[in-house]
Amino acid sequence: MLERALAYLKEKHTCPHCKEELTLCHAPPMHVGDGLGWGSEFLFICLNNDCSLFVNGWDFVENTYGHVGSYRHMEIPNSKESYNMMVAGEGAFTGSIVDVEALKKQNSRYQQEKKAIAKLDGCVEANDLEPVLYLLTDNAATQSERKRAAELLVPLNDLACIEPLRNHDFGDNHIAQDIEMAISTILASHYLRECPYCAELVKVRAKVCKHCQKELEEA
Ligand SMILES: [Zn+2]
Ligand SMILES: [Zn+2]
Repeated sequence: MLERALAYLKEKHTCPHCKEELTLCHAPPMHVGDGLGWGSEFLFICLNNDCSLFVNGWDFVENTYGHVGSYRHMEIPNSKESYNMMVAGEGAFTGSIVDVEALKKQNSRYQQEKKAIAKLDGCVEANDLEPVLYLLTDNAATQSERKRAAELLVPLNDLACIEPLRNHDFGDNHIAQDIEMAISTILASHYLRECPYCAELVKVRAKVCKHCQKELEEA
């Protein structure tokens, strides 16, 4: 859906009534009136309040149907189909305008995720923590891929993963638990633990933290 919306954004649609450029909007779930879908998640709509169709529509709707309403010119993306769509007021569809910047951001995040997923296979052999960290710290990434990334932490056995992971809010208890277990295993394999006072890594055998000089309890 994301890639389709980005492709639609390259299309230029012009209103035949006012010659203004149409705005890409999210389609309402149903075709108001006949209950059919538009067959498209997106619609190009003339949102110009000075458009003659919209300006003259009020009287027409009032006289023909006896209620308040007007029309907006609408075209289906990637097609020649166009409609006069009845609207109840000026505000209709202004809330469904496709946010281009958000869409582009979403797309670049998605591309990054795809790249990281592609690098997961072979990252242990390559000693490459980066794709694993990327997926774990991107809460919008696919859950199954994040789980797979979490499983690679122990085989990677890289202490460098601890700080970025400790500084991230996972917003998901399962992933957070997997990561907690992995960090414990990695620390144990290096005979290290985290100082409960300053969070620096210290030897399991240490009785005093070499960083903050606080006395440590027996591990
Ligand atoms: Zn127009
Ligand atoms: Zn300390």
